[in-house]
Amino acid sequence: MSGAAEDLTALTTLRLPARATARRDAADLPALREALLFARESGLPVIVLGAGSNVVFAGDVEALVLRYTATGREVLAEDAESVTLRVAAGEGWHALVRWCLAQGYYGLENLALIPGTVGAAPIQNIGAYGVELAPFVETVHAVCIEDGRELALHRAACDFGYRDSVFKGRLRDAVIITAVDIRLRRTAAPVITYPALREALAASTAPPDPRAVFDAVVALRQARLPDPAITPNAGSFFKNPVVDTATAEALARRYPSMPQFVTDGGRKLAAGWLIEHCGWRGVAGDGVAVHPGHALVLVNRDGDGLALLALAERIRTSVAETFGCQLEIEPRVYGAAP
Ligand SMILES: Cc1cc2nc3c(=O)[nH]c(=O)nc-3n(C[C@H](O)[C@H](O)[C@H](O)COP(=O)(O)OP(=O)(O)OC[C@H]3O[C@@H](n4cnc5c(N)ncnc54)[C@H](O)[C@@H]3O)c2cc1C
Repeated sequence: MSGAAEDLTALTTLRLPARATARRDAADLPALREALLFARESGLPVIVLGAGSNVVFAGDVEALVLRYTATGREVLAEDAESVTLRVAAGEGWHALVRWCLAQGYYGLENLALIPGTVGAAPIQNIGAYGVELAPFVETVHAVCIEDGRELALHRAACDFGYRDSVFKGRLRDAVIITAVDIRLRRTAAPVITYPALREALAASTAPPDPRAVFDAVVALRQARLPDPAITPNAGSFFKNPVVDTATAEALARRYPSMPQFVTDGGRKLAAGWLIEHCGWRGVAGDGVAVHPGHALVLVNRDGDGLALLALAERIRTSVAETFGCQLEIEPRVYGAAP
């Protein structure tokens, strides 16, 4: 593509080769406004990037790739029961979880070791091991890409759902998140509903405390997920599909070992189980592969975004043909034909 000069390969954990017309890092609000002005004057759309752990570049993009890198954590309010923090979008998510634990601010332990920035965390309402970000969010602060206006969205306005929020819907590509206000507990209330976590903690004699939950989550994740610094990947490549109860019961009769979880809209199926059952674990070709240890994770060896999306499409087709349910890609895809 003509004019795409900035290499993006090192900016994403999948390390797919791609270039952008322009690229900026903005460390504060004036620099962010200046970058937005540059995009407007150059007629370039803006692609916002955090740590690049949940994006796929399928090819070059004619756009300004912009990262808001401001850091900082501020205590806004604190009493015996809770603390409210304002955390700048450029802070690393895991570093925040670790710091909160050390301060005695509880609630985020199950979300340890999720890669990425604080600014990206509300986008898909990050979740793991039985906990989601949404209940801890008080306010999301953002700047409008179109006119630089500042916005403050309270939790209810964020429309949080399973790996979903207003930032993937009505406000998709419209705002840059600059800070997130998070309310945490001052007293421990560990959540150990997730079966693998419960099992991991069952061996310990002491009742689980937040530190034990944090350690167990870190150990589980390190054992199960490939480290993107060594094996380029974007974590789970597909969302877990939700099907209605009648469909779920029919599937359970046909596949008695199929894991199912009761959820608001019906039952959630385990995308990894469906993919594995279709025989995709370890399948490789064209420089991309289904991770041999985890069927939900697609990895880039020396391929490109188109090869990765072609593999994803073959997986989607085979899961739809076998189980009659549609898998949805979790990461955001850029640079692909619509
Ligand atoms: C090994 C691995 C494990 C993972 N495990 C989990 C998991 O357990 N649970 C989970 O939920 N996710 C998981 N993920 C996905 C990923 O870590 C999260 O989605 C994370 O929040 C992405 O953060 P990021 O800074 O890398 O965002 P990016 O990948 O850079 O961006 C993701 C999306 O957010 C947008 N965005 C980023 N920053 C901003 C901002 N400041 N303002 C507006 N929009 C922005 C981007 O435009 C893009 O659309 C995993 C990923 C990997 C690689």
